[in-house]
Formats: sequence, C-alpha cells, structure tokens
Amino acid sequence: MQQKLLRSSHYIELGGYQYWPIMVPRDIRLYTYEQIPVFLKDNPYITDGYRAYLPARLCLKSLFILSNETVNIWSHLLGFLLFFALGVYDLVAVLPAAGASREDFVICFVCLFCFQVCMLCSVGYHLFCCHRSEKTSRRWMALDYAGISIAILGCYVSGVFYAFYCNNYWRQVYLITMLAMILAVFFAQIHPSYLTQQCHRLRSVIFCSVSGYGIIPTVHWVGLNGGIGASIVQEFAPRVLVMYFIAAVAFLFYISKVPERYFPGQLNYLGSSHQVWHILAVVMLYWWHQSVVYIMQYRHSKPCPEYSVDL
Ligand SMILES: [Zn+2]
Repeated sequence: MQQKLLRSSHYIELGGYQYWPIMVPRDIRLYTYEQIPVFLKDNPYITDGYRAYLPARLCLKSLFILSNETVNIWSHLLGFLLFFALGVYDLVAVLPAAGASREDFVICFVCLFCFQVCMLCSVGYHLFCCHRSEKTSRRWMALDYAGISIAILGCYVSGVFYAFYCNNYWRQVYLITMLAMILAVFFAQIHPSYLTQQCHRLRSVIFCSVSGYGIIPTVHWVGLNGGIGASIVQEFAPRVLVMYFIAAVAFLFYISKVPERYFPGQLNYLGSSHQVWHILAVVMLYWWHQSVVYIMQYRHSKPCPEYSVDL
C-alpha cells in the first residue's frame, strides 16, 4: 500500500516510462481518480495526477508543478497573452493603418476583451478547481462556463457589427437579441442546480443553442447581400464555416472524451480531450479575430452602397 501511494503521488508516467514531476513542493501531492473528492470526478479515463484538498495559496502555487491540469492552465494563460498582445498590435498598427473609426476601435477592443476574459476564467477554474471547498470549486466552474458565453458574445458582437455594417436596423435587432440570449444564459448559470451532473445534458444543449444561433444572422446576411454568388459572401462566408467547423470539432472532443477513452491512464498529463478542446478554443478565437480584422479592412476599402444604408 505504501509503495502504491508513493508511486501514485510522486511519479508520472508518459508512454510507459516513469518520470519525476518537474517540481513537487512538499505541501502539494498528486492523487489518483479514486482518491479525489466526488465533485472533482468528471473523467474516469484520467486516472492520476490530480491536485485536491488544497487551500487557495497552494492552488496558486500548483501553477508551477506538473499535474493533469498543467496543460489546461498554461494553454489558456498563453491564450490570454496572445489576445492581449493582439489587442496592443491592433491598437498601434492594424487599426490605424486601415483608417479605422472610433467604432472600429471599440468593436475590436470588445472582441479581444471578451476573449481575454474567457481565457482568464478558464485559467482560474483549472487552477482553483482543486480547492478543498466544494463551493469554491463550483463557483470557479460557473465562472468558466460564463467565460465561454462571454467569448461567444465577443464573436457575435464583432461578427454582427461588420456583417450588417450597411444595415443599421438588422444590426441592432441581432445585437439586442444576442445580448438578451447571453444574459439569459448567465441567469441559468447562477442557478445552483445548473452545474450538477443531472444538468450535464442541459448545459450541452444550451451551449450548442447559443453557438448555433449565429447561423440565423449568417443565413439572413447571405440573403441580404444577394446570395452565395455575391463577392462579400464569397470572401467572408467560408471564414464563418471554418469557425463553425473548428467549434464543432472542439465540442466533439469535449463531450466524447476521446482519445483518453481508448487509452485510459496513458494520457493523464498530455494528449487528453480537454487539452485538445482548450487549444482548439484558442485557434478558433484567433481565427475569428483575424476574420473580423479582414472584414473591417474590406468595409473600409468598399463603402456601403447608398441604397442600403437604411435597410
Ligand atoms: Zn477547460
């Protein structure tokens, strides 16, 4: 038993070889799936490398140890830095070069700010989920979900703003409905039963509906611009499709727990589905930011036709 405990708490295994973790302070130990509290039990295929029962100070300190959350934490910490750097670059180089208006600056700021909030909420959750208090852990989880909604809001606000650049009426209609929908999701997330296992399916349904709602303004936008043959549609619609494709692949990894489902215990530290989901989330948001900059530049190079201003 002593031997087993020592092995499970101090070694990590990669590809059948045993390694020492880079740094394990004496006050943080790692646990197996059987040893962690029930509220942390989410993925039985990740069998080892769990932090648990920690006070806030040690949760923070665990940023620098190798656990099964290390890649999750650092992928979105680097994601946050990426979107922060992109914001600075946009402000000083991209937007001034494109002849951007004050509105362009605001939209670009809102978009990247939402992405940064999403990344930080995720970092917070993966850092503090191992807190000894279940309530604290759950609160961070709620914040993680809220962060995803905020990122979706950032995508919608920027997308709708430029897609309906020449249609003030529909731009307002979609912005208001999207804001209302995201607010409704927030209220659902505040509800205590939202994060229980029983609501797992409901969370997936809400997540898919909020993300899928974007298809409605997209189809409407294609129609308003004269169908799929129109030049702006040809330029921008594939970007929306790629965005949805990445989102769908990311979500499939997230819910299916593939590939660790087929290699239980072997992908505890590297290569698990949640890590793929995290990386695809950064790729997807980066792709969307590039698309927003692209359509913004397009709009400045080709002004709205006279007749469509008040459509
Ligand atoms: Zn996550």
